[in-house]
Amino acid sequence: MHTVAVSGPPETGFRSVVCARRWLANPYAPGRPTVRCMNVDDHAEELASDLGVDKAEVKENLQNLVEYSVPLEEAKRSLRRKYGDDDGAPSGGPTAVDIADVDTDSGNVTVTATVLTAGKRSIRYQGDDHVIGEGELADETGRISYTAWEEFGLEPGDTVTIGNASVREWEGSPELNFGESATVTSADGDIEMAAEVGGDRDLAALSAGDRGRNVEAVVTEVEERTIDGRDGETEILSGVLGDETARLPFTDWDPHGEIEAGASVRIEDVYVREFRGVPSVNVSEFSTVERLDHEVEVGGPTRMAIRDAVARGGAYDVELVGSVIDIRDGSGLIKRCPDCGRVVQTGQCRQHGAVEAEDDLRVKAVLDDGTDSVTAILDRELTADVYGGTLADAREQAREAMDHSVVADTIAEDVVGREFRVRGHLSVDEYGANLETIAFAERDDDPAARAAAFLAEVDA
Ligand SMILES: [Zn+2]
Repeated sequence: MHTVAVSGPPETGFRSVVCARRWLANPYAPGRPTVRCMNVDDHAEELASDLGVDKAEVKENLQNLVEYSVPLEEAKRSLRRKYGDDDGAPSGGPTAVDIADVDTDSGNVTVTATVLTAGKRSIRYQGDDHVIGEGELADETGRISYTAWEEFGLEPGDTVTIGNASVREWEGSPELNFGESATVTSADGDIEMAAEVGGDRDLAALSAGDRGRNVEAVVTEVEERTIDGRDGETEILSGVLGDETARLPFTDWDPHGEIEAGASVRIEDVYVREFRGVPSVNVSEFSTVERLDHEVEVGGPTRMAIRDAVARGGAYDVELVGSVIDIRDGSGLIKRCPDCGRVVQTGQCRQHGAVEAEDDLRVKAVLDDGTDSVTAILDRELTADVYGGTLADAREQAREAMDHSVVADTIAEDVVGREFRVRGHLSVDEYGANLETIAFAERDDDPAARAAAFLAEVDA
């Protein structure tokens, strides 16, 4: 059984406009502000006193602009112009800077750069759909991501001068923002840069925050789902994409007919978000999908040391090899709430109170490879393999012993102290490092490795 990465549509859930900056700071995860909330009221007061205009009027104008997705600093400049304060730009106007020198304290800047990627996204705010452009720019000194709040017709490979862009923080790095009050003009000459134009990436190279990327992959799993989206019930596709380098979960928010199980496809203009510690590929209404005339090969799981997998904060489809050093409580014959599937003790579900709990089999095995440990969670099917019996067999054994814990004891006797090759999806969160296990097999006999391990033990 796979849990597919779906966390709701990306554009719903915006709260009221009270805290515009919070939304602007992190429009794709509204619940997780990356910048401290700023108060429109405070800005209105400051602006009104600068301009010598009534505060209520300034505030109304400011609020209005902000509601239409205009970044706050731009909104303020626009009001300064409106009230005849020609010195709208910061004193001396935005300075031309190299990308390497742009940081969140830069104020407004002018940058000449080549467009590496140009993605599109629709966001809804206060009932209005608004198409934004997003991607990466580069010059001789470095690369930076951008959000364009208006349509500037940017294409990968274009070299442009962007005047009066603001800088905000995005995914922990500076990002250029430009809209109404910015100018975008063609620049002469080629920029010599290390960065490559275009968004083509292997799946393994994708990371959260990427936008305007292109992938070529096989649809290894796909299912239709109905979600409660921003326009009511909406059909979406979710599943798994694979190429030679990795497999990653994906969501297609605007189902494309070409995305079918087993199809090799090229998908242009996807964006990447993190879901449960792993990058998740998002296909939107602006993405294009075409069938490839060749098959994309899918590689196996990524073999990793447990410490590395945990340090990454999670990983999709990894293979870990280590010894089972313990079987945790909640293993063996367990009871689950029939409504939510949570494990219940003494017939009480945390959410549903007293329930007629159902029997199930599970193993929570602590796997240690010497670098770190994770809890590998085995579902009923994998547990039955390890136990060497069915759920009915487990019930029978518990009845005879008049103790359900004998099932976990039997499993522990079999696996603790032995080495296993475990494949699954690792998540790391407040519940610890847990591997949703999809394959669990005793490590293959490898005489050379065994000899080396034995010698290491002797030496220790
Ligand atoms: Zn329940």
